[in-house]
Amino acid sequence: MKILVVNCGSSSIKYQLFDMTDESVLAKGLVERIGIEGSVLTHQPAGKPKAVINADIKNHSIGIKLVLEALTDANHGVIGSMKEIAAVGHRVVHAGEKFADSVLITPEVMKALDECIEMAPLHNPPNILGIEACAELIPGVPQTGVFDTAFHQTMPKHAFLYGLPYEAYEKYGLRRYGFHGTSHKYVSQRAAELMDEQLTNLRIITCHLGNGASIAAVKFGKSVDTSMGFTPLEGLVMGTRCGEIDPAIIPYLMKKEGMTPDQIDSYLNKKSGVLGVSGVSSDFRDIEEAAVAGNDRAQLALEMFAYKVRKYIGSYAAAMGGADAIVFTAGLGENSASMRDKICNGLEFLGTRIDPVKNNVRGKAQEISVDGAKVKIFIIPTNEELVIARDTKTICAGLV
Ligand code: ADP
Repeated sequence: MKILVVNCGSSSIKYQLFDMTDESVLAKGLVERIGIEGSVLTHQPAGKPKAVINADIKNHSIGIKLVLEALTDANHGVIGSMKEIAAVGHRVVHAGEKFADSVLITPEVMKALDECIEMAPLHNPPNILGIEACAELIPGVPQTGVFDTAFHQTMPKHAFLYGLPYEAYEKYGLRRYGFHGTSHKYVSQRAAELMDEQLTNLRIITCHLGNGASIAAVKFGKSVDTSMGFTPLEGLVMGTRCGEIDPAIIPYLMKKEGMTPDQIDSYLNKKSGVLGVSGVSSDFRDIEEAAVAGNDRAQLALEMFAYKVRKYIGSYAAAMGGADAIVFTAGLGENSASMRDKICNGLEFLGTRIDPVKNNVRGKAQEISVDGAKVKIFIIPTNEELVIARDTKTICAGLV
């Protein structure tokens, strides 16, 4: 069974074609700059040279068409015809309270996704465009939606509600939803495998630290709390997002600077975070380099980031009555030994310590805590695409 996994952003499409007999990736690629000058498809077939296709990619439908052509191309293709694609799995960011699990796309599901646009105006529309494009180009092939919010639907009400009048929740759905759920789910399952334990016996704190960053408390296999909220702006200090701040700052700044709602939104989402603090970059590699070269604000941004992550780890251990494992994943979590070290320096009270030798690795699933640590620390590369492919296989198994 071959499954195409699609992740549509506002101007990009990421894809991977899986052969689910052995979960191997036959090809993967990226369409960039959709609707912008210089649009391009970079297609990487397994075991063959990369193909770079420059084309005028005006919209997502043209992008998906090019992807399907690349997959079936005589030279850099990996399948004989589109008929070999048994199902398509889509990453969808926001499903509100409507879905607690991945689903088969039906007209009712599309309606529900439309209703969630208001809560994720940047993310859900391109996700929906991707589903519509596939329905048009490969009609009859079943499609699924795998939601970033679904894994966190197990959070108890006392964890997901804000201290606002209850009507705000009833009327507008104002509550914590949480994101990166597919990643938190995958790495918590992998941690249990690596520990040779049942997930249902473990309390795991999963730290997804990339450009967007979030932490989850996964108790006995279920998300019971997470740092992102109504939108992916809450929680940690991120690449360009401020994370949690005193909400009174928002009207204060709007008045002082004469900002409109859109301007303050952009200020908090795009100009803040470690970019805003350091004044250097949103990319941790640049900030680490600047800090080593003596830039004090770059150093401060790193300290702030690590401190916030450490605080969340402590609070989630309290939320779960303890912890058995801490997992680092995503770009920064998988690659930056110095950031992992900074974060864990001070967690000794939990009964854990990083082993500097084991910590000196990149992008490989392994334990990095000292031998005999009460709370194990892991690096686990995330694989959201594989989770989407697996869920799609399960949902579509009886249909194809
Ligand atoms: P997203 O999917 O949210 O864009 P990723 O998970 O790809 O993010 O993470 C991207 C971030 O990871 C980069 O902005 C960079 O800051 C960080 N990163 C990647 N590699 C390294 C590295 N070797 N050292 C430090 N930071 C890294």
